[in-house]
Amino acid sequence: MDYKKYITVVEDWPKPGIRFKDITTLMDNGPAYKSAVNEIVEFAKDKNVDLIVGPEARGFIVGCPVSYALDIGFAPVRKEGKLPREVIKVAYGLEYGENVLTIHKDAIKPGQRVLITDDLLATGGTIEATINLVEQLGGIVVGCAFFVELSYLDGRDKLDGYDVLTLTSYE
Ligand code: 5GP
Repeated sequence: MDYKKYITVVEDWPKPGIRFKDITTLMDNGPAYKSAVNEIVEFAKDKNVDLIVGPEARGFIVGCPVSYALDIGFAPVRKEGKLPREVIKVAYGLEYGENVLTIHKDAIKPGQRVLITDDLLATGGTIEATINLVEQLGGIVVGCAFFVELSYLDGRDKLDGYDVLTLTSYE
């Protein structure tokens, strides 16, 4: 499916010079959303995945329907201060400043096979931090799946050695 037909490019949002890829118009379309989720389900099928992990908030939009289809669990990665029990954390650099992501300490058991999902791969900072959290807990990252890739930001360079699926790419 040509997913670009369903993604809206918003000029100068959230700041001048950025061309934001809005996936809410893809989610709005039942067959397009279902097809995108199904492609990730197929990607996951031969990987013996035990658990899906996704960063807030759009990683949930991608990962939760995949976990439902595969009959496995979903563990959320959230910004600091959002998860109610004991967490581990990782800090990573943004263009300006720093972001901290957390996951519940008991969300993953050592040796569990984890598929990470998010809506979009840009510089790869978010996914690299999420991989770090999963691996700190002893999880094995068997793949990373995204609806969209911004290939000009070279996020894949941070994912060397991981199995990566993206459904559409902007050059
Ligand atoms: P990265 O950490 O790879 O630079 O940025 C990816 C993260 O930022 C993802 O969690 C994604 O949700 C968000 N993001 C960055 N740019 C865009 C965009 O153009 N569209 C959407 N939907 N999300 C974006």
